[in-house]
Amino acid sequence: MKQLFPRILGNEQAKNRIGTAILSARAPHAFLIVGEDGSGKHTLALNIAAALNCERRRDAHSPLPCSACGSCQRIFSGGHVDVRVLGRSRDRATIGVGEVKELREDMFLSSTEADVKVYIISDAEKLTTEAQNALLIVLEEPPENVVIMLLATSADSILTTIKSRAQLVSLSRFSHGELREHLLKISPEARALAVSNPSALDAVITAADGRLGRALELSNPILSAEEAERRELTLKFLSATAPGVPYVRISEAVSSLSTKRSELLSMLEEIIQALRDLTAARKTREFTTLFFPTPEEARRFAEPFKHARLIAIYELVSRAHEDCTRNANLTLTLTNLASGIRLLKV
Ligand SMILES: [Zn+2]
Repeated sequence: MKQLFPRILGNEQAKNRIGTAILSARAPHAFLIVGEDGSGKHTLALNIAAALNCERRRDAHSPLPCSACGSCQRIFSGGHVDVRVLGRSRDRATIGVGEVKELREDMFLSSTEADVKVYIISDAEKLTTEAQNALLIVLEEPPENVVIMLLATSADSILTTIKSRAQLVSLSRFSHGELREHLLKISPEARALAVSNPSALDAVITAADGRLGRALELSNPILSAEEAERRELTLKFLSATAPGVPYVRISEAVSSLSTKRSELLSMLEEIIQALRDLTAARKTREFTTLFFPTPEEARRFAEPFKHARLIAIYELVSRAHEDCTRNANLTLTLTNLASGIRLLKV
């Protein structure tokens, strides 16, 4: 039996279904790959693109994709002219109809070197309705040898008409044990950490919350410096939101967050995770933390807060996050956040 998608961990059912379809030349024209940030959507999309074009796909002894032939190598290094990626930037609010039309025209040109031309649309939830309708035209009558992959964190904003014409692949989260196993298998940093500081590795796995991409980020020492800074700013912000703290500390904490949209989004996401821990700590005894290393630490930190206050802060931060994704003015978003906290009545 040919080995299918050896670079993709877990998700056995999806791998079998897609691999078998590709081998029998029945691959769908469109995929909708759904999973949270860090769940491996982009990796899977590249692997499917490589499998469709692997020079050894008919060789029964070679895995699919082989990762070694010229086509596989170009695809994995991002240098293949017939595999195009659209919209891979967190800074943009929407993907408009113009870009989709440009892509659509390209789909009807013959390929330069690939057997199957692949179009990967990252953040497909950012496609405007008009852009989705423009895409629908190609999905209804797809050009020969073109595969379109839509990647999204949620399928909610994708039109039903598109969903019905694409094969849905949902990437599952790993359990704590599975994540640990996969992480140790592929990451030298994680293996080093397992020896030098086992409890830090445990904290990484807990914080990654089932997502391998996130676990890799967290166990990488270079990223960890940024991570440490983010944690510090998160704690500074949360301490400033405790009842009775002078307003100047909130405005200070808010202004030190970031003025770059993508960084601010990550920052706010981290604060939201920490607030989830704190609200859980105020309500229940046993829970899995997302930000704090242990439930006890979350409980200690939550002490000065009433549950209702934590919920109100959570809502304010979530609103700021939403405004950010909608391209709102960042200074205004942060000012609103700070004054919202100042005006809290609980
Ligand atoms: Zn290959």
